Amino acid sequence: MLNIAIIGAGVGGLTAAIALRDKGHQVNVYEQTAELKAIGAGFGVLPNAMHLLATVGLDDDIKRIGHSAGASIVRDLDGNKLPVENWPQKPSPLGSTYAVHRGEFQQLLVSELPAEVVHLGKRAVRVHQHDDHARIDFADATGVTADLVIGAEGIRTVVQEAVGVKAPATGEGVMAYRALVPVEKLSWALEDQRLAIWFGPQRTFLCYLVSSGKIMNVVGYVPSDRDAAESWSAPAELDDLRAEFAGWEPRVQETINAAESTFKWGIFDRPPLPTWSTRSITLLGDAAHAMVPHLGQGANQAMEDAFALATILEGADKGSLARLLKSYESVRIERTSLVQRVSREAGHLYRDFSNDDLTKKAEAISDLIAANHIAGYDAIAEAKRALAQQ
Ligand SMILES: Cc1cc2nc3c(=O)[nH]c(=O)nc-3n(C[C@H](O)[C@H](O)[C@H](O)COP(=O)(O)OP(=O)(O)OC[C@H]3O[C@@H](n4cnc5c(N)ncnc54)[C@H](O)[C@@H]3O)c2cc1C
Repeated sequence: MLNIAIIGAGVGGLTAAIALRDKGHQVNVYEQTAELKAIGAGFGVLPNAMHLLATVGLDDDIKRIGHSAGASIVRDLDGNKLPVENWPQKPSPLGSTYAVHRGEFQQLLVSELPAEVVHLGKRAVRVHQHDDHARIDFADATGVTADLVIGAEGIRTVVQEAVGVKAPATGEGVMAYRALVPVEKLSWALEDQRLAIWFGPQRTFLCYLVSSGKIMNVVGYVPSDRDAAESWSAPAELDDLRAEFAGWEPRVQETINAAESTFKWGIFDRPPLPTWSTRSITLLGDAAHAMVPHLGQGANQAMEDAFALATILEGADKGSLARLLKSYESVRIERTSLVQRVSREAGHLYRDFSNDDLTKKAEAISDLIAANHIAGYDAIAEAKRALAQQ
């Protein structure tokens, strides 16, 4: 059994805590915020994560708090339906997609852990590798030691420095507006509950239901010559969002007009890291491999990391840890580098919607996802394969 300290109670850190406890390890999670509020909007739990969460009995809860997002309807900016089916994911043998509200999903994960496991108001400022353990220093001048420290603290990582790596962020020239709208305010969504996307020149308008189908998650991707803050909570102007989608069909206008507020989020890309670990420290989630959001895989890759690490560390002790962390990072760097690259390529295709054959363009995105087995990957099976190859 290992004594494991996880920095960050986001999707990756909490999933890792659940998966590692399931393998018998002693786990503590240290989160900087004093309270876990429902910040954020929606994301899809895709088949590659859904089947992992089923192994710890969470699939029914996700279906309860989420909304099925497997079926979709794709339109141009005038509202004409494009003849594409199962867009962008083809059906996967691993399961279906459910869209969740990030805050509700985080609360679900927390509720799976004993109260004493999650420590709030603990901002890690530095992590040090010692002989056979690691130490975390917190901003409140306290500290803890552990056999293994996992940096799951997202894009503003402090653990990369302890590992001796750095992934610089590059603006993608794109920003996203996002909003949450009660479904009863949207006549079109009351009639059709499928994920809906509209394509226009360099812009995409995406809507899907979260919160058991009660709330519409709205995302408008637009070009940007300024680097908007890489933030999930930076307020923006509804009039600016309206201007970006002026002239788009009535369903888009109804949605923007029904929003009471909007937030903006700058989109940044990062290169893969050459290594994630020291002897007693490793990275997980956005801290290791933040990616552009065009495949909706950021949270799903964090969950894949969590289950792969737990699989590889089953039965681990201090003596085997350094060797096993190498297996973890090798299987996960290979996978997440691919997903980072394909997310970037999907972004280029999305931005190229000025071309008049929109159906071909939409199919190209779908084909790219299928060709790279993005949603059909089994992280537990691949982790076992990496262990067997040691
Ligand atoms: C507030 C917020 C809202 C988001 N909203 C959305 C959204 O609407 N849609 C979407 O698709 N994705 C959203 N994301 C991103 C998405 O959740 C992540 O890309 C993905 O889940 C990867 O998860 P992660 O656990 O690696 O990182 P994150 O989800 O970013 O979690 C990192 C956690 O670590 C904590 N933390 C950071 N630094 C420290 C530190 N030094 N010490 C201790 N704790 C620290 C953070 O407070 C956070 O709770 C949001 C992320 C955040 C933090």
